[in-house]
Amino acid sequence: MNNIFNLMKKYNCEEIYFKYDSKTNLRAIIAINNTKRGEMCSGGVRLRNYKSEDEALWDAFNLSLAMTQKCAAINANVGGGKAVIWNKKEEKTPALVKSFAKFMFKLDGRFRTAVDLGMDFKDGYIIKKECPYVEGLPQKYGGLGTEGDTTALGVIKAMRIGAEYLFGTRSLKDKIIGVQGLGNVGGYMVKFLLEEGANLIVADIDKNMITKTKKKYPSVKVVAPDKFLSTKCDILSPCAIGGIINSRTIRSLKCRMICGSANNQLENPEKDIKQLEKTRILYLPDYIVNAGGIIQAIVEMNKGKKEEAIENTKVIEKNIKYILKEYKKGKKSTLAIADELVESRLK
Ligand code: NAD
Repeated sequence: MNNIFNLMKKYNCEEIYFKYDSKTNLRAIIAINNTKRGEMCSGGVRLRNYKSEDEALWDAFNLSLAMTQKCAAINANVGGGKAVIWNKKEEKTPALVKSFAKFMFKLDGRFRTAVDLGMDFKDGYIIKKECPYVEGLPQKYGGLGTEGDTTALGVIKAMRIGAEYLFGTRSLKDKIIGVQGLGNVGGYMVKFLLEEGANLIVADIDKNMITKTKKKYPSVKVVAPDKFLSTKCDILSPCAIGGIINSRTIRSLKCRMICGSANNQLENPEKDIKQLEKTRILYLPDYIVNAGGIIQAIVEMNKGKKEEAIENTKVIEKNIKYILKEYKKGKKSTLAIADELVESRLK
């Protein structure tokens, strides 16, 4: 078991809240990482059947830090937070979700959320009925709709800038792109990338997602989840879980660039980025490219429209252009440049 205060120090985490509900077996954590840019924090709520309490904590710390980084990178006056629920999918009853909502309500709007991995609109709606601080719900529930498409559009904007840097053209036509995870974001990645004329290789651990995607887009090539990272492609787009780029997997990668929506893609950022640099794989930092969700959430908090959110994803393009301009100088990694950008905006 990790020492919580040591972890809080390591991740610069200001506050952490726990909830256990014996009736539903809800085990939830809300981490408020940083309020320098705003007392009100925003971040998704994720449900996973973590292997251990340590793994759940690791996710809460890392994901809330990523929210701080995203908010700072887009210059938003919002702090970074995240909620994780450590339960099995089968345990996700309306009562459990309601219990989480009541827990979140106690923070009195200091933490606002949207559905993330393992949660869906129905859950978001249950939360909203108990606690109004929810963004990203369908219009019929008073929201701006999914953040998945806006996130995917932001990732693709970043990918085009990366393609220009590597291949001399922003066009993704005929590029071989691997998409891991076909959920909320990954599903839109597939749709938009096919519209651009890319050739797609996809993987998902959920067979239903594969069947659904293959039916809708017969041209996609499917690979087994455990073969995905070693599949030869131009661009690898992780859109599922974090920690998948690590010392064990980097040596098997056969891509030129990594650009995807998944949070915390590097298991050990300091070490893994060095190894990626050696393999000359261009890494576009996740918290820069996947800011579309928080961009939309902020527009929604300010009662704006979806079009405004999509327009505002231009900031992702701007940040990636800046990072690659600095990267070209050959002195720092893309991640170090992104981290410095965030640091400067947290001062
Ligand atoms: P989701 O739950 O809708 O979809 C995730 C998909 O990944 C599921 O279909 C799941 O079966 C699949 N998956 C899980 N583990 C896998 C593995 N090992 N290999 C292959 N497939 C696997 O989640 P989402 O909302 O699409 O989010 C995807 C990622 O993007 C997450 O890391 C999330 O935190 C991040 N993200 C999402 C948003 C958003 O707007 N939803 C915004 C920013 C970042």
